[in-house]
Amino acid sequence: QWLKVRERLRAEIGDVEYKTWLLQIVLGPLEEDEVTLFLPTRFLRDWIRGQYGDRLEALWRAENALVRRVELQVVRPATAVPIAEPAPDSTPAASTPRDRVEMGEENPSNPGPEARHDLAAPLDPRFTFSSFVVGKPNEFAYACARRVAEKPSSPGFNPLFLYGGVGLGKTHLMHAIGSELTQAGGVSVAYMSAEKFMYRFIAAIRSQSTMEFKEHLRSVDVLMIDDLQFLIGKDNTQEEFFHTFNALVDAGRQIVVSADKSPSDLSGLEDRLRTRLGCGMVADIHATTFELRISILEAKAQASGVVVPGKVLEFLAHKITSNVRELEGALNRLIAHANLFGRPVTLENTQDVLHDILKAHDRRVTIEEIQRKVAEHWNIRLTDMSSARRARAVARPRQVAMFLAKHLTSRSLPEIGRKFGNRDHTTVMHAVSRVQELMERDVAFAEDVELLKRMLEG
Ligand code: ADP
Ligand code: MG
Repeated sequence: QWLKVRERLRAEIGDVEYKTWLLQIVLGPLEEDEVTLFLPTRFLRDWIRGQYGDRLEALWRAENALVRRVELQVVRPATAVPIAEPAPDSTPAASTPRDRVEMGEENPSNPGPEARHDLAAPLDPRFTFSSFVVGKPNEFAYACARRVAEKPSSPGFNPLFLYGGVGLGKTHLMHAIGSELTQAGGVSVAYMSAEKFMYRFIAAIRSQSTMEFKEHLRSVDVLMIDDLQFLIGKDNTQEEFFHTFNALVDAGRQIVVSADKSPSDLSGLEDRLRTRLGCGMVADIHATTFELRISILEAKAQASGVVVPGKVLEFLAHKITSNVRELEGALNRLIAHANLFGRPVTLENTQDVLHDILKAHDRRVTIEEIQRKVAEHWNIRLTDMSSARRARAVARPRQVAMFLAKHLTSRSLPEIGRKFGNRDHTTVMHAVSRVQELMERDVAFAEDVELLKRMLEG
């Protein structure tokens, strides 16, 4: 299977990229639902995760429908003892024992004070409170998470329910709580996605070890379940989670749960579960603001040690607005390129390096924007875009705005007409062909229109 996946990917991305990046991957353990791939350095792991992670997962699934996740892990060769001397070029032995691999990251020979909880997923050491950038949209969720990490199971904060859109920091905050508590010691923390919870549960049923599974889960001090929306429609797993939940809360243990919606909006979860989920602290992470995106980029650029000009940060924060993960991915790619080719990051090479990402994020231009820019350009009043005046000085710009609306938005002709003072769609059609004609005849006019078009496309 791995060979097939590799060949497919090679066909997709071409030989050069394949040899540069993917040849160093070594196949690790295969579990029922998870494939682990080993990489020799953290840099490579991040790079491959960012560039090819989704494709790797999709291709694996195409080969084997049971695979849910492809896990990328950094593994140094079993013989690399000194932590201070990384050996980035060597490949790990494929037979590296599983337990060592799970202890994972940079120093496999030093498992740290805690033995890792068998059932739980490992915590990502990068997701800490100090690496979380706080701003208006997330300050409440952050404060709640800190509070739980300081004093788990305090009344009013149990369960802690974090919710918000994709890539806004829910998982980050959960890992931060986990790391903080584990480091303080004496507290056992289990973190896993709801999906993993379900697969573990099913595996336990299959191997007739549900008792063990339950006992194990109910023995932890803090249970964190990520992306609970996954349990919608999975009634048996919900039921099991509900009982675990009750047992833990009754025993004074802390629960932290995340989801993409608030408890009351998670239709498809059993009512009694929703009710219990909502009775502790519910904290909402809002969409990022421009300011927060800038602060996040500044923090990450600084941590990388690569100088990224403010103009580039502003550009990214402006272009990629939906999701911090993508914002971070774009910045990481810039940094990787700068490191790889030893050249500074500039606005020009940013556009180049991020070509594909930026295309996907092109802001949709609105008709209002078009009208504003065009009115500004020919120095007419914005209201004349929808007025009945027919004087050439206003009629021509109006036609250009209609032309641009047709070319730059996905609006239909009648929709465009409506935005221009309820004009008929035939008027719009006429305007479009008229502008076309004029552009062919009048070079200066054509330049004007092209310029406007470029400005609007940003
Ligand atoms: P979610 O679980 O809500 O989908 P994640 O917690 O996985 O999102 O966040 C996606 C990425 O964005 C992670 O790499 C995370 O570190 C980063 N991130 C999100 N919000 C912040 C923030 N406020 N400060 C720093 N990094 C952030
Ligand atoms: Mg998440």
